[in-house]
Amino acid sequence: MFGAGAVAYPGAEPDAFSAHPHSSPSPVLPDMTRNAFRALLCVVGAATTVAASTTLLAQAKPAQAKPAVAAKSQPAPDFTTRKFGDLGEGPYKSLVIRNAMVIPGHGGPPAGPYDIRVEGNMITEMVPFDPVTAERAGARPRMTGDRIIDAAGKFVMPGLIDLHTHIRTLPMEIEYVYYLKLAMGVTTMVNAADRGYVDGMREAKKSEANEIIAPRMYPLVSYGAGTTFTKLQLDDPALAPQVVKAMAANGNRVISMDPLGWSLELVAAIAKAAKENGMITSFHLQPANTAVTQAVRAACAGVTMIEHHYGYAESSLDGNTQDFPRNYEYGNENDRFREAGRVWTYANKERLLGAVVDSLLKCGVTMLPTRVVYEANRDVIRATSLPWTEKYTHQALWNWNMPNPAFHGAYHYDWTSDDEYNWTSAYRLWGDLIFEFNKRGGRVAFGTDDNYIWATPGFSTVRELQLGRETGMKTLEVLKSATVNSAKTLGEPKLGLVRPGYKADLLIVDGNPAANLKYLYSFGDLTLDRNGAMYRTKGIVHTIKDGVVLENANLMREVERMVQASRKLAPAADPVRDPFRPSGK
Ligand SMILES: [Zn+2]
Repeated sequence: MFGAGAVAYPGAEPDAFSAHPHSSPSPVLPDMTRNAFRALLCVVGAATTVAASTTLLAQAKPAQAKPAVAAKSQPAPDFTTRKFGDLGEGPYKSLVIRNAMVIPGHGGPPAGPYDIRVEGNMITEMVPFDPVTAERAGARPRMTGDRIIDAAGKFVMPGLIDLHTHIRTLPMEIEYVYYLKLAMGVTTMVNAADRGYVDGMREAKKSEANEIIAPRMYPLVSYGAGTTFTKLQLDDPALAPQVVKAMAANGNRVISMDPLGWSLELVAAIAKAAKENGMITSFHLQPANTAVTQAVRAACAGVTMIEHHYGYAESSLDGNTQDFPRNYEYGNENDRFREAGRVWTYANKERLLGAVVDSLLKCGVTMLPTRVVYEANRDVIRATSLPWTEKYTHQALWNWNMPNPAFHGAYHYDWTSDDEYNWTSAYRLWGDLIFEFNKRGGRVAFGTDDNYIWATPGFSTVRELQLGRETGMKTLEVLKSATVNSAKTLGEPKLGLVRPGYKADLLIVDGNPAANLKYLYSFGDLTLDRNGAMYRTKGIVHTIKDGVVLENANLMREVERMVQASRKLAPAADPVRDPFRPSGK
């Protein structure tokens, strides 16, 4: 039954595809992330919720704005203009963005300027506007609407789509993540349902209805979540069509395959059923199971996207498994992450960039690198000392990041220069793999996995784009990966491009991000004006999500307020910061 997807690939015989799930029973691996959350709740859950969050919720509660007066002959689309304090307003019956240079999102260069009309949550019209010829031709009526934004000198591009991220739990306010994500350009996200399945689905609905200020959400849910199937039933490939159908009926889009690599038959059955139900599958190939399911086998079993870096180097090895050291224990995250870097140092490079890429392309899979979340492994001191941490990294996040064997993603309590060398080498080869895959027509999409391992949300969005550029992919290709490539991967045909008929998820950027990705940071970047004077750009001035125009500077003000209020959660001893505090403080 796997024959259709099977091609020659290194490291295993084709008939390994039919490895029977029950012939070698594997323990069902615990969901490390979820367990870690439980642990976290035990430790910090008792702390009082940051008082700011209540005020904030009240403030962000939508108030009905005055209905637009202009009566048009066309029936107005069904939407309500809402005002979210000074954080945002919309959608509008008619919103006009004037004089914008447009980065379309499909890899093409900036063009324009354009006047863009948005009606409700839809781009309906784009008219190229040349002020010089317009003046010569005489006064022509300019596009007008209920709200006009002059974007002269600004660049409009599609909102970014982050296909793997986390919202984490209290005491970190959920708005902290939403606001940072939006302020740095993310209008759609696939977020792990960190606060539980019900909560995740409810938040997604609220965002869809524009009742809250948040990106569009497609919660990443475990296989079988929200259904009544038992654990044993979920292990049965024959039941996959029923399970997936039940998940689709619950409104799920993205199935996480993470712990299922122990059975290739199960993986293939779920991937097939997902496709038949308009869903997608996302796979973090866990080292515990790559002996069965590495990247090539996962791709050829039909999974939609492979997250992170796992499984590729393993696909190139002469044998079936990593060279695990004698005392390796998968549950020990120090071991796990150390060896996940080291495996790249003995990968067969030629095979990886040749036959492995061939197979990945032939079987058709999307790469979701999420490089930013592992970057700390290359240089943990750099990762803990980034300039935005003081002002914008929530104390709860800092506390979770601090080295601690009891937490997920906090394994830098014994992290040596050898580990950093191995990870730096790993990034080079992993980058070459991404570059080669993209060059030969493979689809690279965009995700951050942020809110873990020193990756502060929002800032990590921009850093991830830069790490895409680091592979050698061109800047426009990198932007394409985060827009139309990710929209296609998600199965959202009306997202990811600036074009009439597409959803109004747009970024109005001060500066050209195709020339410098760092213009997307909330703090912009330094550059020179026409007279050679240095100035700092303003980042993404407005993010527009579903036609709602956000005031990004105000979102960042709220983030700063939440972060400063969170400092009361700071521990008396901080093994990361303490050595760098000035004496006597
Ligand atoms: Zn994750």
